[in-house]
Amino acid sequence: MTLGPYGPLGSALVSGVMAAIIGFDGLDGLIGSLKARGYRTMGPVASGGAISIRELKSAADLPRGWEDEQAPGTYRLHQTASPDLFNWAVGAGSLKAEVFPPRSIIWQAKAPGYEVEEISDDVPPVAVVGARPCDLAGLRVLDRALGSPPVTDPAYRRRRDAVVLVAVECSRPASTCFCVSMGTGPSASEGFDLALTELGGGYYLARAGSKIGKELLEGLSQRRARREDFARRTELLARAASHMGRSVDQHGLPEMLVRNLSNPLWDEVAKQCLVCGNCTAVCPTCFCSNFEDRTDLSGTVQRERTWASCADLAYSYVHGGPVRASIKSRYRQWVTHKFSWWWDQFGTSGCVGCGRCITWCPAGIDVTEEIAALRASDNAGETHGEAHLQ
Ligand code: SF4
Ligand code: SF4
Repeated sequence: MTLGPYGPLGSALVSGVMAAIIGFDGLDGLIGSLKARGYRTMGPVASGGAISIRELKSAADLPRGWEDEQAPGTYRLHQTASPDLFNWAVGAGSLKAEVFPPRSIIWQAKAPGYEVEEISDDVPPVAVVGARPCDLAGLRVLDRALGSPPVTDPAYRRRRDAVVLVAVECSRPASTCFCVSMGTGPSASEGFDLALTELGGGYYLARAGSKIGKELLEGLSQRRARREDFARRTELLARAASHMGRSVDQHGLPEMLVRNLSNPLWDEVAKQCLVCGNCTAVCPTCFCSNFEDRTDLSGTVQRERTWASCADLAYSYVHGGPVRASIKSRYRQWVTHKFSWWWDQFGTSGCVGCGRCITWCPAGIDVTEEIAALRASDNAGETHGEAHLQ
């Protein structure tokens, strides 16, 4: 490996964390090691005009030179001459699909006895290379909702416990990102096995965050991480933090939303919202699901779980009709759950500031703007009219 400006071979324990510098060959070796250990190794590729999470054969599949431009309702990729592999912010896909698949069979029964068989989730364990810090935060939120008592989803827990995460810190956020204001990025501080920072020139600062991460790092072609490498990381992250395109003021936010359930601004956004559900599908923390039973002519009965959306009229259907019949009530439910009720349920915000719901909303609705507008019209301490469900 060519050493460049970063010093001699060898790894270093920096503040108790094993850290080293790896090059492209180290990254390729990392993917090879994960595959050799039996992990279905997923990562970012430029595919179909977007950065998508796909199975990787090698580091050559990573999106070298691709950069994204994101804005409300807009996503564009363009190729540059840069040798960098991670010069983009999040694509539409997140870690959610790896631990909570969009469709999964929960149980099945077959004729003639119709004994119920639990479906064992025997997919190979997954490793994801290129997880962003906001996605690690999203997984921590999902852990509260799906992976913790009092209601632990066994299929989620199985997948979650097996996943290996190689995070890549963000040095080029999109204009739709607001992780700094949500306290979730652009640095990765927990919840990873390995965290990489792309330093430029084909070099990556790699930090181990778990036993398996340390083992993986020890097996790679590497050299010692030095003070200047950490200084470069600090500089890149500071620059990324200062280029955040958006922010959400967290101060008293849950209470502010509850005071404004009848704010007329909800009527305005409802005129634009297509209730397509894109915002919930791309959100790394939305976890609602639906169940459907199916039979076929061979006598097999299956119960399938699919992602559901609170934007959907049928989502709130109880006997006689939907509880949230109006578009306004459904959009408001989504925002108030994310930023207010989620605290009561799970002790955390339901939003990690990834910006996906802004980019992938076909109407270009920007949740940060909606919240700012509500705050601007908020008469603190007073309930804004009366709360109506419809
Ligand atoms: S806010 Fe946007 S993405 Fe979400 S349901 Fe409405 S139109 Fe679709
Ligand atoms: S609400 Fe929007 S910005 Fe927040 S985590 Fe979900 S998709 Fe990302």
